[in-house]
Amino acid sequence: MSNNINSIVVGAGRLGSNIAKHLYKQNLNVLLVDKNKTKAANVVDYGGFLEVGDATDLTFLEENGINEVKRAVFVTDDDSTNIFLGDIACYLYNIEEIYIRLKDSRKRKIVNPRIRCIAPFDLSLDDFAKQMKEEG
Ligand code: AMP
Repeated sequence: MSNNINSIVVGAGRLGSNIAKHLYKQNLNVLLVDKNKTKAANVVDYGGFLEVGDATDLTFLEENGINEVKRAVFVTDDDSTNIFLGDIACYLYNIEEIYIRLKDSRKRKIVNPRIRCIAPFDLSLDDFAKQMKEEG
């Protein structure tokens, strides 16, 4: 499968599926991947491509067009998997825009600066601090 995919999102949980929907709404050719069949089947209101498979399998990634994508988003439930996938995207496939989710944002320090980190914990803390400041 290839279908001129330009964005790949790995992890079809709440975050991943909403990122995929967001990209799809921007008229981008998106592929959403999850290794869990049930998780993939539960994604609703998404018009892009969907595949079941393990994204740490390079053959699977290549068969699904990883060589052609401009953007890769790795939001599995495991930081180490996301860091590993980010490195694969960077060093093996030279993908232009790479995002990974980090539950533990302290790991940012070991991530290649080319890879953008999304850290929900930091965002929540920033949001709290901002709202507290607004409160006066
Ligand atoms: P959540 O934590 O709800 O955002 O979901 C994360 C998703 O990542 C789960 O649905 C997992 O099945 C999926 N996932 C974890 N590891 C992999 C992997 N190696 N390849 C594809 N999907 C994965």
